[in-house]
Amino acid sequence: MNRAPRAVLAVVLPVVLFVVVFAALPLAADGLVVKCGKLLDPATKSVKTNVAVAIDGRGIVASPPKDAKTLDLSGFTCLPGLIDAHTHLLLQGDATPAEYDEQVLKESTPYRALRAAAAGRIALEHGFTTVRDLGTEGAGFTDVDLKKAFALDIVPGPRVVTSGPGMGTTGSYPLLGFSWERKMPDGVLKCDGADDCRRAVRHQVQYGVDWIKLYADRSYYRTPDGGFSSIANYTPEEIGAIVDEAHRLRKKVAAHSVTPTGHRAALAAGVDSIEHGNVLDAETVKAMAARKIPYCPTITVADFVKGPRSRTNPIWDQLWAASQDSFRRAHAAGVPIAFGTDAGGFDWDKRNQAEEFSFMVAWGMTPWEAIRSATTVAAELLGPSPDGRLGCLDPGCAADLVAVAGDPLASVKVLEDVKAVVAAGKVVKGAR
Ligand SMILES: [Zn+2]
Repeated sequence: MNRAPRAVLAVVLPVVLFVVVFAALPLAADGLVVKCGKLLDPATKSVKTNVAVAIDGRGIVASPPKDAKTLDLSGFTCLPGLIDAHTHLLLQGDATPAEYDEQVLKESTPYRALRAAAAGRIALEHGFTTVRDLGTEGAGFTDVDLKKAFALDIVPGPRVVTSGPGMGTTGSYPLLGFSWERKMPDGVLKCDGADDCRRAVRHQVQYGVDWIKLYADRSYYRTPDGGFSSIANYTPEEIGAIVDEAHRLRKKVAAHSVTPTGHRAALAAGVDSIEHGNVLDAETVKAMAARKIPYCPTITVADFVKGPRSRTNPIWDQLWAASQDSFRRAHAAGVPIAFGTDAGGFDWDKRNQAEEFSFMVAWGMTPWEAIRSATTVAAELLGPSPDGRLGCLDPGCAADLVAVAGDPLASVKVLEDVKAVVAAGKVVKGAR
């Protein structure tokens, strides 16, 4: 090859490569104007009529960009994209320990990732444009990969706030009960001792988690005086080291905690949210209300597991009964309640995580409070995303919007049938 063609190639080849690579990238969302018949603003608890929401790229702006397309939802009620602050994309229902073991032992991580992608699509189509995914259950940092794939629009899915494998201690978390001669996989990242737990937090941060999830307690049981207790998984030094290291690295900590034994350990260490909180005693409620520590009640999963698990251990029925009492007392005391369902603990394709709204209203919330829990309150817990603030529809908010037929303030049941979804400025489901 002589010099002249080589010089031409040197100029042309980078241009061709640039065009090929650029074409393969997802295009930024076009400008969009969404015309809403009604719009619920959870921040101010106000209802507006005939509102146009202007979207530029992935965010909401004050005025429509030039050549914006229109999505006509004038026959529907719009509200901000919903947030589920407690999910497991990489789980597909584990009513019994055997079902959990089967997924972790028999399903490869690539297969589980494919199922998780399907779960993400279901969440999105149900109107959940953001999820905080609290543990991959033996699938390492696959949630970080899912977050990336959804954000780049490789496959449709919600914005994911990640926590990697979650954290436990030796002997505290499945897989358990197998021969000591077998090396079984772990459903969590184990650490023992304060230094080891700091190292484990750093390990999680190294691979890109947004939050640290830890399991504060296990083995729930009744005490002779009729109360509930459990085994605290960590020593105060260990759980203190996890929270301190996480906060030092600017990460928040979510604690699975079912009984007061777990709550005391978790709150003393300074965690940022309590997950499940089935048994919230007076001392816990007082501390959480005073410090405005939110809890995710995960009522839908408690309803899902109580039947199958109570066949071998009646504690699950008892925890269900206690959950309702805890919810009512926490609500009355002003504890922030963030919408979180534990979807994945129940099958993504069999139950709609929006069922949680009806449980919350049945247990004493107003429809506004239930909607705020999945928007305003959950958004405050998660903080802003790179696309903008969450749980709102003002300029500067991420362009996440859902629409329903009917009035969710009259019946939150309509939230189980979302008609349109816009996520990060992209129409993922149009009105039917
Ligand atoms: Zn969970």
